[in-house]
Amino acid sequence: MNIHEYQAKALLRDYGAPVSDGRVVMRAEEAKTAAGELEGPLWVVKAQIHAGGRGKGHFKEAGAGEKGGVRLAKSVEEADEEARRMLGRTLVTHQTGPDGKEVGRIYIEEGSGIARELYLALLVDRQTSRVSFVCSTEGGMDIEEVAAETPEKILSFSVDPVTGYQPFHGRRIAFMLGLEGKQVKQCVALMGTLYRLFVEKDVEMLEINPLIVTDAGELKCLDAKMGFDSNALYRHGDIAALRDESEEDPKELAASKYDLNYIALDGEIGCMVNGAGLAMATMDIIKLHGAEPANFLDVGGGATKEKVTEAFKIITSDANVKGILVNIFGGIMRCDIIAEGVIAAVKEVGLEVPLVVRLEGTNVEQGKAIIDQSGLNVIAADDLSDAAAKIVKAVKG
Ligand code: GDP
Ligand code: MN
Repeated sequence: MNIHEYQAKALLRDYGAPVSDGRVVMRAEEAKTAAGELEGPLWVVKAQIHAGGRGKGHFKEAGAGEKGGVRLAKSVEEADEEARRMLGRTLVTHQTGPDGKEVGRIYIEEGSGIARELYLALLVDRQTSRVSFVCSTEGGMDIEEVAAETPEKILSFSVDPVTGYQPFHGRRIAFMLGLEGKQVKQCVALMGTLYRLFVEKDVEMLEINPLIVTDAGELKCLDAKMGFDSNALYRHGDIAALRDESEEDPKELAASKYDLNYIALDGEIGCMVNGAGLAMATMDIIKLHGAEPANFLDVGGGATKEKVTEAFKIITSDANVKGILVNIFGGIMRCDIIAEGVIAAVKEVGLEVPLVVRLEGTNVEQGKAIIDQSGLNVIAADDLSDAAAKIVKAVKG
């Protein structure tokens, strides 16, 4: 689960990391008061969306030359004006995709004078199964770009969980970043703080881009992007409360309410499968037959009729779906339950695209009979390959 920059900065502040003072604004009429509570002479007005690249982004249907979602203001009035201009509009960045994201919240912050922009991230490195630090002197840039073009400007290493964070880790980062004097000490402390926050709150990813050296020579976190391990949210009520559902894909959100594992993709064949492995195999075999899956959907081992119905609704609500493949292996799950769920769903939401159903396992005969007797236009398939071939043929002709 991701959170907004202003929420991440509040957490950083709680832990004692250096951030600017700021106020979040949800309604246009709050902007002036919020800006007025902050010290000038510079204000930064920042669109809060769960995507990076806001500074270089642009508003949809904006006139040429109108700049993006991070703006500097020289007075309270200007800050107010900028906030009002951004609220409710759709910001497009290289991370949002062409549809962009609607700006529902603005963060107004005291502006900083910047001497240097650096890059810092903490993440879970899957290769070493450890928390890793990544830092670079090239702050404010896309780290992917730096990694591709000048990899020597990136330092990354993982921390042994037995010893945890040690001051030498911080010094290594400080020297790589070319920090001087008291900044080294600040860096050692800041990295320790970030590591503690990362581990205590089950953070998955924490990116500070840029981490700056201010005019006055102090380190400060100027931007903050933070994602948490969803499987650990149950033990962090404070973090779970930061969820902003308006930032999530509505289909993925509906799926999460019914405990379905659903990921939207951009293909044309909707898939309903039980078991993550079978779902992966189903996506592979659709590709093998020359089409693309519209989603990953695992209804789980103990799916009920209601869950299957909901899954079906989510798939059919996707306008890109030109055909549906239901692929179920009834182990714990019984094929007759699945069949009833599919029939109930089709009756409820209607069926405007071809549907191929492949059932195998417990009660497969009853399941097939239920589908045959339903009178619905369902194409039956016997095995995985047959099913994929049939749905691709039905969609592509
Ligand atoms: P992003 O574009 O979504 O990554 O948003 P950032 O928070 O990283 O802001 C983008 C850029 O705006 C930064 O790299 C800075 O150059 C600039 N910026 C942000 N805050 C300040 C500030 O307080 N003072 C100054 N001078 N520039 C800022
Ligand atoms: Mn940034």
